[in-house]
Amino acid sequence: MLLLLQNAQVYGPQFIGRRHLLIGAGKLLWMGEQPPRLDDALAVEVHDLGGARTIPGLIDAHAHITGGGGESGYSSRIPPVPLHRFTRAGVTTVVGLLGTDDVTRNTASVVAGARGLCEEGLTAYCHTGGYHVPPVTLTGSVRSDIVHVDRIIGVGEIAISDHRSSQPTLDELLRIASDAHVAGMMTGKAGIVHLHLGDGERGLELVRQALDKSEIPARVFNPTHVNRRRALFEEALEIAERGCNVDVTAYPVREGDKGWSAEDAIAKYLNAGLPAQRITVSSDGGGCLPVFDSDGTLTHMEIGSPDILALTLGALLERGLALERVLPAFTSNPARLLRLHDKGNIRVGADADLVVLADDTSVRHVMARGRWHVLDGQLMIKPTIQETAR
Ligand SMILES: [Zn+2]
Repeated sequence: MLLLLQNAQVYGPQFIGRRHLLIGAGKLLWMGEQPPRLDDALAVEVHDLGGARTIPGLIDAHAHITGGGGESGYSSRIPPVPLHRFTRAGVTTVVGLLGTDDVTRNTASVVAGARGLCEEGLTAYCHTGGYHVPPVTLTGSVRSDIVHVDRIIGVGEIAISDHRSSQPTLDELLRIASDAHVAGMMTGKAGIVHLHLGDGERGLELVRQALDKSEIPARVFNPTHVNRRRALFEEALEIAERGCNVDVTAYPVREGDKGWSAEDAIAKYLNAGLPAQRITVSSDGGGCLPVFDSDGTLTHMEIGSPDILALTLGALLERGLALERVLPAFTSNPARLLRLHDKGNIRVGADADLVVLADDTSVRHVMARGRWHVLDGQLMIKPTIQETAR
């Protein structure tokens, strides 16, 4: 079955204009200004989008797909994030990972979680490891996990500058980064170390040392949560200039917060005149967003959700930033970093992962690999395990 989307206002993420899109076998087969001439014998489902803004499906490069948490006792382990939490948010590609709890959860369960989401029509990958060093792996090493396991594309989130981290030394970090980098070269996968940054004063010191003292390319070091503290964000701007891709977390900002909201951080990054392709934004979906006191005791916890990505995009547009300027951080930038060549762009031959925005910039329709998951805000494909549907 072919699908013809008429009158889409396409941002791919660059502004392309009003186009007709022909979709089949999960791919964008054709795109043109005039309707295609199709054989009458072909079965074609037609949707007129009436000039609605159509963007690439969002890429969420940091989500705890199997559920994170567990920092306040066993009962604080968060359940897995079901399919529709991603699709309703316009997310069509996700990278799953482990955080604090890489003991009762392991790489095998994250790989299985990613495969489950793929079965349901999303595109899902994962990292091996978690907060701690040496990283938990499936096959014995970071390098062999990336080389041998289809879904594993990098390692992380390895925690630094955090009381929950293993306090890795520079040599330990470099050994992990070299494994990821070489495995990335062997496979064409991302081959990155995704680094969790905590609230610690040391900030990105270890990453600066790694850049100063080793031959490993800067792209391999990919810090996240860099907007959690304002001074940390300034450090992130510096290392972005040196070639690192920095990831901001779209978390709900409270009064008196010591960080920047994701929309503040993205706007500041873009206005700083730094390479526009080196900023990404992710949700920390399924992860806990904890607040600790000085003893390291958890005082408050919220759960991250992919919805916040679409809300962040909306907030940026509300500030008057152009869609084509902010969209790369959600789409083409993570695709480039993760070496997902069929993702993050509306391009003939790429996967048909699309989001159609409503006039108020909320998510109206979502297509993943050529199938509608959300139409007019209604869920077309429900998660396999229905009990988790909310
Ligand atoms: Zn983290």
